[in-house]
Amino acid sequence: MTDKTSNAKAERSLNFIEQIIENDLQEGKNKGIVYTRFPPEPNGYLHIGHAKSICLNFGLAQKYNGKTNLRFDDTNPEKEETEYVNSIMEDVRWLGFEWEGEPRYASDYFDQIYEWTVKLIRDGKAYIDEQTAEQISEQKGVPTRPGTESPYRNRPIEENMQLFDRMKNGEFKEGEMVLRAKIHMASPNMHMRDPIMYRILHKPHHRTGDKWCIYPMYDWAHGESDYIEGITHSVCTLEFEVHRPLYEWFLEQVYTPGDIKPRQIEFARLNLNYTVMSKRKLLELVNTKLVSGWDDPRMPTISGLRRRGYTPESLRNFADMIGIAKRDNVIDVSLLEFAIREDLNKKALRVMGVLNPLKVVLTNYPDGKTEYLPTENNPEDENGGLRDIPFSKELYIEQDDFMENPPKKYFRLSPGAEVRLKSAYIIKCESLEKDEQGNITTLYCTYDPDSKSGSGTEASKRKVKATIHWVSAPHAVDAEIRLYDRLFSDAEPDGHDADFKTFLNPDSLQIITTAKVEPALANVDKNVSFQFMRLGYFCLDKEATPGNLVFNRTVTLKDTWTKLVEKGDVN
Ligand code: ATP
Ligand code: MG
Repeated sequence: MTDKTSNAKAERSLNFIEQIIENDLQEGKNKGIVYTRFPPEPNGYLHIGHAKSICLNFGLAQKYNGKTNLRFDDTNPEKEETEYVNSIMEDVRWLGFEWEGEPRYASDYFDQIYEWTVKLIRDGKAYIDEQTAEQISEQKGVPTRPGTESPYRNRPIEENMQLFDRMKNGEFKEGEMVLRAKIHMASPNMHMRDPIMYRILHKPHHRTGDKWCIYPMYDWAHGESDYIEGITHSVCTLEFEVHRPLYEWFLEQVYTPGDIKPRQIEFARLNLNYTVMSKRKLLELVNTKLVSGWDDPRMPTISGLRRRGYTPESLRNFADMIGIAKRDNVIDVSLLEFAIREDLNKKALRVMGVLNPLKVVLTNYPDGKTEYLPTENNPEDENGGLRDIPFSKELYIEQDDFMENPPKKYFRLSPGAEVRLKSAYIIKCESLEKDEQGNITTLYCTYDPDSKSGSGTEASKRKVKATIHWVSAPHAVDAEIRLYDRLFSDAEPDGHDADFKTFLNPDSLQIITTAKVEPALANVDKNVSFQFMRLGYFCLDKEATPGNLVFNRTVTLKDTWTKLVEKGDVN
């Protein structure tokens, strides 16, 4: 699978956006420049859908020797916050991309956009409408029937100029009037029916303070910002397809021949099952404390995925695997899990940890002796090397790896049965001890001293049906382990009439406080991933301290994606 995916990457044909760019380059458009931008609204943390857009925009610039701007779309003064701005910059950089120069802000262009607005009013292409929002929306009509022209539509230019000036000077209340473009009330495209360009908002802005009380609408700022920055290819998601004629109309009004002319290109947004992706809904989860924050490891946010142990490489590979489509689709979350597994399989150190310990005493092993047994750091990495793990008379194994009365096909430990301890010896269960409630507290086993892994003896090559993980009890370190499942138990939590929060998975977080892990893990770095053998990939949580180990499980070892492919459910 690894080879197949990477070959596919090298050989894949151009996606439709690359085709457009290559055509543009061949035709000598835009002086041979490729300049893209990533334009988030700073009203929340970025999610995996944004990661796709980031990989696409920055990836195109890398491929065609171009540049990418990071632009905060802060035309809406109500929501922007510096915390979001900072998190967005951190996430883009963590994904491995660097924007051109300083980050840009749509609000930096408010003066220029204002000047252009005045020009449009002068040219008779914009007017002040004093109707209420309801009246304006009623007059919009429906796509099959023309709208009704506003009674203010043919107001003299001078009057529009004066009113707009007074609007800017704060003489009117919010909602008292708006500035509209004078385009076409009968256009089959609803966005062309005299769209609003400016509204009054008596709200301070995080960058411009109290300078403005009128703010441009998204459509009358976005394309203009692209133009100001010299963006050549303005890539956005499909819902903006119907806005494209307006994007082009606005651009026509301000464009000077010879300049670079940005072109809007739409692609299908990433939808992932078993989660929600709208920032509004993610914020709701944060505010209602249903998750611990934007970076809760169950969140589809980049910061959540990072904390969970996802790597930038895995997210970039994921973006590559899903490709760029023109039609909406839903991606199975198991593909994302496949991407991180594939990456960590190559990189992660193999270690041992026991979640629910069961004590094992080796009756024939010398008291007080410690042996250091070599074990492979990573069988997938030729240069991974070996490390020594301590072995002694008292061990812990997983409670699940023992059954007092096993069914027929149970091959792990049971009374009288043998298993191999990974990188150590074969042991046999001789007897057990229980507490007053009947719970098994200790297994008494013997070990075969000749069966040491890798020792070359006949006994070391002896086949037993199961190999299990373990830790040496006196050497083990306590740890808390957090196991995650999908945040929602429904594949499409926001696809129902009921509130999406009713589909939260009550078992999405399981905290295990009894874990014992091998001593090497007491001094590990926060950004390193491990495979706890047989249990999955893990990394330290940000809450871990040297005396208090807390691990997040990034993903289990079970690859459900390849199974889906084999079954023919996906291709
Ligand atoms: P949300 O609906 O989550 O609030 P948004 O589209 O309002 O998202 P923006 O901050 O405006 O978020 O998005 C910044 C950029 O990221 C835009 O170009 C947008 O098209 C893109 N983007 C947002 N969501 C996705 C997604 N799910 N898949 C791909 N690109 C996305
Ligand atoms: Mg948005």
